[in-house]
Amino acid sequence: MEIVLATRNKKKVEEIKRILSDMNIAVLTLNDFPFCPEVAEDKNSFEGNAIKKAVAISKCTGRIAVSDDSGLEVYALHNAPGVMSSRYAGEAADDTANIKKLLNEMKDLPDEERGARFVCCISLAFPEGSVVTFWGLAEGIIGREPRGRMGFGYDPVFYPSGYNRTFAEMAPEEKDALSHRRIALEKFKNYLKNFIV
Ligand code: IMP
Repeated sequence: MEIVLATRNKKKVEEIKRILSDMNIAVLTLNDFPFCPEVAEDKNSFEGNAIKKAVAISKCTGRIAVSDDSGLEVYALHNAPGVMSSRYAGEAADDTANIKKLLNEMKDLPDEERGARFVCCISLAFPEGSVVTFWGLAEGIIGREPRGRMGFGYDPVFYPSGYNRTFAEMAPEEKDALSHRRIALEKFKNYLKNFIV
């Protein structure tokens, strides 16, 4: 079975390939389909964006496409940055700028108000038009300064519940065992087992 990952985020591609590596699936990426268009993430929900990306790439490639729309929700910030996670500090913002803005927004919040969760919505689109989505959540708290060099995005400030190390201080496999992406992909893998002979 072949699937196309509908994302250009190299770190996400790495994580998804690692988590799917025990399945009999050939994982293609958008690099294999350079003619496919860039899909704007202009919906106001993770699910809306995930479905939009998967459907567009399935149409363009004629294959089963899988997309991941994910982000960080901080409860005390009314779930910001949410769908704006990758662009929180502006369209061209990098991870460092996004973290800096987040820590600044949260600078007056006491420890008990620093709760947050990562959300991942995985969408699977079939060429004939049907779509299925799977969710994963990882609860934790936001620290006061970046720590660690692994992972990507907000990993250096995210302490998963029950741990005193950030995702960026964990080995990739350790993050995978706890991550929102892993939880959504496990549901996705269970679903796919019906199709793989
Ligand atoms: P997307 O490409 O619109 O789904 O953007 C997702 C953004 O959410 C990323 O650029 C990160 O800022 C953040 N994000 C999603 N998943 C993770 C994760 O596993 N660790 C850290 N940040 C993440």
